[in-house]
Amino acid sequence: MPFDMPAKFPLGRRNLLKTLASAGILGMLSPITEKAEAQVASATRGVPVPKIKDISVIETAPQGSRLTVVKITTDQPGLYGYGCATFTQRADLVKPAVERYLKPLLMNKPTNRIEDIWWTCYDSSYWRNGPVLNNAISGVDQALWDIKGRLAGMSVYDLVGGKCREAVDTYAHADGQEYEQVIAAAKQYIAQGWRHVRVQVGLPGMAGYGAQHGAAQETFKPLTNAPLFEPTYQFRRAIKLLEIARTELGEEVELLHDMHERLTPNLAVEFCKQAEKFRMYFLEDPLSPEDLGYFKQIRQNCATPIAMGELFNSPHEWSPLIDEQLIDYIRCHLSQVGGFTPARKISLLAENYGVRTAWHGPGDVSPIGHTAHCHLDLVSHNFGIQEYTPFNDRTQEVFQGCPQMKDGYLWVSEKPGWGMEIDEKLAAKFPFTNPVNGLNGGWGELRTLDGTVIKQ
Ligand SMILES: [Mg+2]
Repeated sequence: MPFDMPAKFPLGRRNLLKTLASAGILGMLSPITEKAEAQVASATRGVPVPKIKDISVIETAPQGSRLTVVKITTDQPGLYGYGCATFTQRADLVKPAVERYLKPLLMNKPTNRIEDIWWTCYDSSYWRNGPVLNNAISGVDQALWDIKGRLAGMSVYDLVGGKCREAVDTYAHADGQEYEQVIAAAKQYIAQGWRHVRVQVGLPGMAGYGAQHGAAQETFKPLTNAPLFEPTYQFRRAIKLLEIARTELGEEVELLHDMHERLTPNLAVEFCKQAEKFRMYFLEDPLSPEDLGYFKQIRQNCATPIAMGELFNSPHEWSPLIDEQLIDYIRCHLSQVGGFTPARKISLLAENYGVRTAWHGPGDVSPIGHTAHCHLDLVSHNFGIQEYTPFNDRTQEVFQGCPQMKDGYLWVSEKPGWGMEIDEKLAAKFPFTNPVNGLNGGWGELRTLDGTVIKQ
């Protein structure tokens, strides 16, 4: 302790200074006090706490998907951080949410107070727990963790407890218009080392999820020109696929399937029951967030493992499913829940109830966000599996230090923070463009044969 307190001042240093101040003699001691405070700061922190000097947004689409990243610059030379704020379907709205609302709120705040800043952002809009705003908060939150790591010279996974496994086990996507194409793709992944494979088959004539559409069937005679989907058709094709996959791929491989919330609740319960005999690793999103009450029926009827949560934005959605032990895997989208900080809390909550993690991680997450997944996967004892889609060479030139894939495992950079750098000049060469459907990144419509619009 560089400032030794004489025993004759039992009230403590703070009260002494107050007394001296009221007596008007503090000015005489202030140089000494300042020196002592500086010594304390130096001994306990080593360097002054960085403050937020600027917040900017990087928008880039090197792989087609619109990726949004927040950059926080500090008042210390060369110290900055990146955070993923990606929301591909409403990408243009995140940048103003960051620059016009969070930036004025956070300028000059100390970067070390991540928890305080998270709550400040969260409360600032009064109405909360929604997409866009949560994405914006996520970008800030992850950037602050990056800064803390860089400052400490440690990886984020080390800052929050250290690794409890060597690398991150992942599952790959085996897709195809027809069953044999899916099986061939799955066999390729297994040969490359994957132990977990998600299987999705197309619906001929309809817009299935996770696979190319097959040729149209003239027998449908739809009352609409929009892309089609019929739940019972999907039901039959998917159950058949699981049966073939288990037969063709053997007992050892872990099978996953994404139901993508498209069946009616009763049909979803029946699907989970029928899938039980295929010994799935998990069935993903059997129900939409609007139908959470039906999870009890699934639980009461079968032991098929259930994964849920990529659309969740609010603790009111995931908390009941976890504490009633109605799901086996929580798979929120990190930027939709507000970043690394809330995701870590979700992971810890889930750990207490025997629920494992399987964070949502396809191409609509930036490599920064995907790296944040991996850091969380490494430190969470209740980690289950990580969804994986590859980043192409161009993306890895923009985002340098991406996790590396080997034998189905992802290995993260050991450098401080997220261990990543962004080539911002190169990122600027891949601006957002309006895709051919003219919907500015938004999804189109999906209808049943009679023309009713349904969830995507
Ligand atoms: Mg999904």
